[in-house]
Amino acid sequence: VDEQGEVTYKKTPSSTLMASLQLGLQHSIGGLEPKPRRDILMTDFNVIETVDFPSGGSAITQAHKYKDFTFTTYSPVAFRFFREAFQIKAEDYLLALCHQSLRELSNPGASGSLFYLSADDEFIIKTVQKKEAVFLQKLLPGYYLNLTQNKRTLLPKFFGLYQYKCGGVKIRIVVMNNLLPSSLHYHWKFDLKGSTYKRRASPAELEKKSPTFKDLDFNTQLPEGLWLPPDKYDILNSTLVRDCQVLESFGIMDYSLLLGVYNVDEAVRAGEPPPTPTTETVGEQAGAADGDMTGGGGGETDERERSRTFLQSRIEARKNFSIFNPETLASDTDLQDFPTPGYPEGYIQARTKGGDRLLLYLGVIDILQSYRLKKRLEHGFKSIITDGDTVSVHNPSFYAQRFLTFLNDVVFKKDRVKIRPRRNSTI
Ligand code: ATP
Ligand code: CA
Ligand code: CA
Repeated sequence: VDEQGEVTYKKTPSSTLMASLQLGLQHSIGGLEPKPRRDILMTDFNVIETVDFPSGGSAITQAHKYKDFTFTTYSPVAFRFFREAFQIKAEDYLLALCHQSLRELSNPGASGSLFYLSADDEFIIKTVQKKEAVFLQKLLPGYYLNLTQNKRTLLPKFFGLYQYKCGGVKIRIVVMNNLLPSSLHYHWKFDLKGSTYKRRASPAELEKKSPTFKDLDFNTQLPEGLWLPPDKYDILNSTLVRDCQVLESFGIMDYSLLLGVYNVDEAVRAGEPPPTPTTETVGEQAGAADGDMTGGGGGETDERERSRTFLQSRIEARKNFSIFNPETLASDTDLQDFPTPGYPEGYIQARTKGGDRLLLYLGVIDILQSYRLKKRLEHGFKSIITDGDTVSVHNPSFYAQRFLTFLNDVVFKKDRVKIRPRRNSTI
């Protein structure tokens, strides 16, 4: 934060950065459209395109009121391919990033990165360090392999990698998916690593309206864990195992599982109205649905049938558009336990031990830290002062194992029955 009270990054005011990025992105995304689609080649991953943006404008760029800058797009054709695979339409991407205001988010992380959220709530822009940007570009072929093989992957969706350069200052950004729709008031938000070392939300974080808790907080706040039906638990478990295998193979560590927990029944008890279903939404008559799910009460069955048909049609529509046919856990209609009209997409349903209905929004984040590039000193030092096993800075294989053990044993619990009887049948 500078003397005027404005947030800065590398001495660049956030507002200047935002406006310049929007100009650069507009040119980059718009300029890519006329280029014909073709298969992705290995060489596409190494491409770097740089454009000058003088204040006075140029033959290909418009004039602006900021200092001269240059804007670099990394692997433009490869990222366009990824965006299409993730069903991001070019016009939506352009509109959200360039023609609508971006919202600066306060970052609970220690790295000092800036985060911006697009107005449509879909995209997060994060400033990253040089070594992270370099690493992401090297990671792209492996990232591609993972996407094609592990369709339910929970790794971040990377939509673009760019650099803003002004004078001697270089600021690199990644654009990725927003995991936590901001329309929901989460009962808990967690950033989980499986480590216990310094893994408690800071007093400053606790002051916030919606703090992000950490591993030790999970143990005190949700000691009974989050309960999933056996089939869903197994899928989540194996998805995480496969993702960690990829991360480990790249020597990546220090990543987290970001987890937003929305308790449907707690919201009801607190008198919070459920979201108003739109015509686009599944399960419009959820309020009328009643009865025990295991007993297959009439209204409920119709309800589920409608949900299934609707979701199936959506998945079909997406398949036509997508190369990867991602089968996200969230879109798995067979795994629906209760109707949830109007809630933002992307959740997995779960229960508390007591039977409260939960919506979990989750994904793996912060995967651009490679152990090979990390200072050895840091590990050595922390290992001396604490028990080496509990330090979050460790080798990638140990890190992955500890991460998986915590998530698959402590955080997520396997229910014995496929669907639990509902304790509270109305939303
Ligand atoms: P550090 O390296 O100190 O851990 P960082 O600056 O690298 O922090 P991240 O760990 O990537 O930042 O993210 C910090 C926080 O920002 C997360 O705990 C989460 O609250 C939020 N966040 C990050 N990525 C996303 C995302 N894709 N969707 C929603 N929220 C996110
Ligand atoms: Ca982090
Ligand atoms: Ca980080």
